[in-house]
Amino acid sequence: MNADEFRKYGKEMVDYIADYYENIRDRDVMHRVRPGYLTSLMREEAPETPESWEDIFKDVEDIVMPGVTHWHSPRFHGYFAAGSSYPSILGDMLGDAIGCIGFSWAASPACTEIEMVTTDWLGKMLNLPEEFLHQRDGPGGGVIQSTASETVFLCLLAARTKYVKRLKEQDPNLRNVDVISKLIGYASDQANSSVHRSGLLGEVKMKKLATDGNYSLRGETLRAAIREDKSQGLLPFFVCASLGTTGTCAFDNLEEIGPICQEEGIWLHIDAAYAGSAFVCPEFRSYMKGVEYAETFSMNPHKWLLCNFDLSVMWIKDRKLLVDAFNVDPVYLKHQDQDKVPDYRHWQIPLGRRFRSLKLWFVLRSYGVSGIQQYVREHVRLAKELESMVTQDDRFEIVADVIMGLVCFRLKGSNRLTELLHDEVLTDGRIYIIPAIARDIYFLRVAVCAQATTSDDIRVTFNVFLECTERALGKFGDNNGVDYTPGINIDGPLPKYVTPRTAEVDVNHNSDKV
Ligand code: PLP
Repeated sequence: MNADEFRKYGKEMVDYIADYYENIRDRDVMHRVRPGYLTSLMREEAPETPESWEDIFKDVEDIVMPGVTHWHSPRFHGYFAAGSSYPSILGDMLGDAIGCIGFSWAASPACTEIEMVTTDWLGKMLNLPEEFLHQRDGPGGGVIQSTASETVFLCLLAARTKYVKRLKEQDPNLRNVDVISKLIGYASDQANSSVHRSGLLGEVKMKKLATDGNYSLRGETLRAAIREDKSQGLLPFFVCASLGTTGTCAFDNLEEIGPICQEEGIWLHIDAAYAGSAFVCPEFRSYMKGVEYAETFSMNPHKWLLCNFDLSVMWIKDRKLLVDAFNVDPVYLKHQDQDKVPDYRHWQIPLGRRFRSLKLWFVLRSYGVSGIQQYVREHVRLAKELESMVTQDDRFEIVADVIMGLVCFRLKGSNRLTELLHDEVLTDGRIYIIPAIARDIYFLRVAVCAQATTSDDIRVTFNVFLECTERALGKFGDNNGVDYTPGINIDGPLPKYVTPRTAEVDVNHNSDKV
């Protein structure tokens, strides 16, 4: 493809993308394909001779789109929002075109410096403590990582290294394995699965701690776990607190957890992957009270801040804890200014890195703080609208406080009823939602995800629930209202909205599933 063709086809692609977004409501939100659908539509070998762009592009609609789940459709309510916006897409286009591999400042100074500026901008927008900013000339700063999961893993490894080093300073005869085998980290039973996976990857124990009736991890639970584990000879070293859990968007109590971590010399990481974006609005900042106790904090602009995947930001108060922990500096990566600026390769797991800060820069400038606040508030308003529709129908019950853009609810009674409702919604296909289980209560999660979602879309969504509820109740048949499945295994306090019922063991459900 030469430059003239690129201009022509590039413009056509931009039109295609704009049309895709403008008309996304016309597409079924969910694909209808079965595994392997695409293999049968493709040749077995790559083409021997070049194909025309027209032929290739035609296959986007014929082959690709049938197998796409439209995450940016206002009918998509699964998981959490996946960010997207035109300025972000343009940022990715330019970043791809520049195509630098910004592992060091010298490798492309703009790549590093826009990242420093934009992570500072964002840190200030969220009202993070100053120690997290580059601008302060201290050891702190922000960095763009691929994902929140990668960040947790990195922080856990850095915390592990810090702890091992500290103990070996006290007793030089200690071997790494003697310490690592005794380390123990904590997160709530509602933390994202990636947190516990980090423990597996880092070969340290991670304990799930029970949460209260609001699914929040409380200080007394952490303190009791630490006391018990220390008495067994274990070494508590890491806590990952969640602000906005995946299941119900619950918030751990940092004001209680933070001082305990400080007293015990434990690294506190805060995972605010989804909800972090809401702290742009002052009215949500009460949920991050205690953030000053954290060593590291992360949130995903690729979730709720209009940036396309992948763009997760992590802030650290003392970069040396990363840089010194994993520093290998071969001569071919050194440069003469390396003590004056961050070389971001030391702040991450891979060596290479994309020019992702461009899209964050474009988004922050195109929307401004006020535009982003408006966007977040609109999603919360829409979630509240849905909540009020749900609460007006007394067949339903809300499962967790609706604080941000997520509504969690269920049909009162047996878990089986809500499972049937979920099956009906999937079969219906007009909207997409996922179920979750917390404390063995099965419920539906409805996230407001798309930038273009309106009140009309929320009404459509609720009407789908109403129609599907009729069908689910019909299928439940004679057992309607009778709790005929084995019931709920109540382990910990019952969420405050859920109707109390007899506790029995529910053999059908895996409480780890979200
Ligand atoms: N933490 C929370 C609270 C999440 O909700 C999620 C994903 O939804 C993650 C972490 C993982 O995010 P990522 O895909 O960026 O690793």
